[in-house]
Amino acid sequence: MFDVSFSGKRVSLAEVQEHPARFASRLERAKVTPGFALCHCRTDTPRKLVIRRYGSLFHLAGWPDDGVHHAERCDFHKKGVSGAGPNPDSRDAIIAGPNGMNVRLDVSLVHQETASGRNRTTGVSTGASRRAAPLLAFLQTLWTSAGLTFWFGTSKPQGWGSVNAELFAGLGDAATVNGSPAQDVLHVMRRFEQHDRDAINAEFDAFRTRIVNDEKVSRRGLVLGELAEFADTEFGKAITLRQHPQRYHVSTALADHAEKKYRRAFRAIGKPNARVIALLLVERLTHRHLRIVDLAAMLCSLVFLPCDSMYEVAMANRLVAERRRFEKPIRMAEGDEMLPDFVLLDTHPATHVEVYGMNGVASYERRKAEKQGQRLSRGIPAVEWNVDREELKQVLLPSPVTRT
Ligand SMILES: [Zn+2]
Repeated sequence: MFDVSFSGKRVSLAEVQEHPARFASRLERAKVTPGFALCHCRTDTPRKLVIRRYGSLFHLAGWPDDGVHHAERCDFHKKGVSGAGPNPDSRDAIIAGPNGMNVRLDVSLVHQETASGRNRTTGVSTGASRRAAPLLAFLQTLWTSAGLTFWFGTSKPQGWGSVNAELFAGLGDAATVNGSPAQDVLHVMRRFEQHDRDAINAEFDAFRTRIVNDEKVSRRGLVLGELAEFADTEFGKAITLRQHPQRYHVSTALADHAEKKYRRAFRAIGKPNARVIALLLVERLTHRHLRIVDLAAMLCSLVFLPCDSMYEVAMANRLVAERRRFEKPIRMAEGDEMLPDFVLLDTHPATHVEVYGMNGVASYERRKAEKQGQRLSRGIPAVEWNVDREELKQVLLPSPVTRT
């Protein structure tokens, strides 16, 4: 990873991302004067970086529309092949503003018991006709806006520290969720570090104290982290995230629903070659206990690239091990089913990589043929892995053209 500099100090970006608490005061100073940090991915002209605050810590983000000026292997070099979606409008559930995301979720962050005794949920107040996003769409948008669907061929495996930093950078300074500042209602778990234990725990405790339930009004919170355990407890099922021992209780109905809806992600919990990310909407059950109201789970490769199956996870892990530069497009909107599974960006032209895990299923074969036809007519080279016919190691990948 490349170096960055601020307040007269030059360090590797990885260092800043993994230890945000260590650089907080220097970044705070630089945010005031001169108001930016620098990225040294190109020796000729350093590029300006935005310094953003989230909670008590600071993060570096690319200067708006400056991504193409960073070196190809730089984290701030963002080059989409899937695009940001057609013509965003003000009724979209998730709007990317200059200062951050404006998100309207289809779940409520405030739950009220009305006088008539009937439950009422509030907090979704912006515009009657505005669409609302489910938690999974929000989680996927966080990933794409953070550039976490790209891999730059770096040798260092990406840890939770840099994922955390990039999520904040993508979210923006003034992000809102259902009208509330994201900093108040969304907690992205920090990478636990003994050295910064007090700061990390104090931040999480402050978030937890904002989750209150006085039996009339329940103020909920969103927690994002890596799913470590889904286990039976004396009160039923509970989820634990990797970064903190807090348990989140789950009703049997929600547990059953989640295990079905996010089958592939839940099956991968605890597997050494995959990771599972969870976004939890939680409310206070008792003084000590938190309960999950709704959740989304996302299967990821070892370096947190979102994948649709364990076969894709295996392919992503191989591409990372071979230091390839590639994108893993996420299918989010209608028409996205035609997106390739992976796009190798280090060949010219870019090569599509398809993982065929459901050969023989009629609808799957139809779409496969359609995609093959499209690629052929557009002259896009492709690598295809039929998981029922060959081992991953037998799949031949084209050599990368450039290694900058
Ligand atoms: Zn750069």
